[in-house]
Amino acid sequence: QRSSPGQPEFYQATEEILQSLRPLIDKHPQYLQQNIIERMVEPERQIMFRVVWHDDEGKVHVNKGYRVQFSSTLGPYKGGIRFHPSVNASTIKFLGFEQIFKNALTGLSLGGGKGGSDFDPKNRSEQEIMRFCQAFMTELHRHIGATVDVPAGDIGVGKREIGYMFGQYKRLNGNFEGVLTGKGLNWGGSLVRSEATGYGLVYFTENMLQAHDDSLDGKRCLVSGAGNVAIHTIEKLYQLGALPVSCSDSTGTLYHEKGIDLILVRELKEQRRSSLIDYLESHSDAKFTPIDQYPKDGHAVWRIKADAAFPCATQNELTLADAKALSENGINCIVEGANMPCTADAQAHIIATGMHYGPAKAANAGGVATSQLEMAQNASMIQWSFTEVDKRLQEIMKDIYQRCSETAIEFHQPCNLAFGANIAGFRKVADAMLEQGLV
Ligand code: NDP
Repeated sequence: QRSSPGQPEFYQATEEILQSLRPLIDKHPQYLQQNIIERMVEPERQIMFRVVWHDDEGKVHVNKGYRVQFSSTLGPYKGGIRFHPSVNASTIKFLGFEQIFKNALTGLSLGGGKGGSDFDPKNRSEQEIMRFCQAFMTELHRHIGATVDVPAGDIGVGKREIGYMFGQYKRLNGNFEGVLTGKGLNWGGSLVRSEATGYGLVYFTENMLQAHDDSLDGKRCLVSGAGNVAIHTIEKLYQLGALPVSCSDSTGTLYHEKGIDLILVRELKEQRRSSLIDYLESHSDAKFTPIDQYPKDGHAVWRIKADAAFPCATQNELTLADAKALSENGINCIVEGANMPCTADAQAHIIATGMHYGPAKAANAGGVATSQLEMAQNASMIQWSFTEVDKRLQEIMKDIYQRCSETAIEFHQPCNLAFGANIAGFRKVADAMLEQGLV
């Protein structure tokens, strides 16, 4: 904390991992002797820059831009770009740190990084979004490359923003290379990339439940968020026979007992870019709770009765009071689509109750894994079919589940997948760092 003052999310993420490591370090003291932990919590490089752009009225705006290149131990830096007014150095550092271990768990050759800006895309015109993305890439382009650092999307950055940033990179660098993932399908994107995080999350959950002779079939599911991850989680839950009954956005929570109308949610969020409250115009039997009516100590979505919960919006969206309400309501399965969606005390409570818990760095790794499949297709200049990519994604998620589960067993905490994920991810990066010498 002394070397990075005032970064609470970053401390939360580091503490969560470091507190799992004692049994591993007792077995392998060389990690301490070689100062691996101190090296790992310090990013290899942090870039902060000014982004200047003008709105449709000609007014000039200034935003902060970030790219944290945390670890290139296992491969090129890889991690998304987030555009949201809450973005600051702490958010980007926690996301970059988590990304190192998530990427290690995929078994693929990927380093860890993250970037973003405090730019708010809400209510901005198409032209303003384009000008901002171009201004952002005007600085970022000199720090990235297809074998150096390959950003993707995250909150506020989807196919549209990736397109504008890719166009600007190409204009400045003069070459067509797979420098970003999540690209459009007719200019280098991979099938299944948009769906991958949500689909992967549900595949991970199926593997976890199957190990306990259970499945998602017939389960009522709570989902938060209404963006890329939430929408594809809901879609796959339906495909596997579950009933998703909620979603949420920055204006409130939607509960529809007979099941969320996904076509309508997609229209509201992807085309009209409006609030979920408009859902009630078509479904008067649904209930919308605006954020000013949320319980003081948490989030309305986690107070609904169901069987399983999938936080897919943002960090720290599930508090201790929410976690207690979930267990009191009979939920025995929580799987994280968002990065670090549970507060530290909520996570501790969930693990202590012994419910099935899929931590983000394992359960939501399907997106970055499919980004690597996009990089592989770009490098070989061929495109795989939807079925081919989906099959690989399913295999990767099964492997990630097994890696976490086997490591948890090896260190005598069977079923604690958060513990297994932390140790397996850390060990892979630490061993590679030892082999690569003082870097
Ligand atoms: P999107 O921007 O597509 O969607 C985010 C959703 O969450 C929106 O519905 C948004 O509401 C809501 N939201 C965001 N911030 C807040 C907030 N502070 N309070 C309430 N609601 C909020 O992002 P993604 O779906 O891509 O990302 C969601 C989470 O998943 C993030 O934690 C991200 O890091 C993580 N993730 C994403 C991956 C990906 O492939 N996209 C990969 C791995 C993890 P509104 O619609 O009103 O803006």
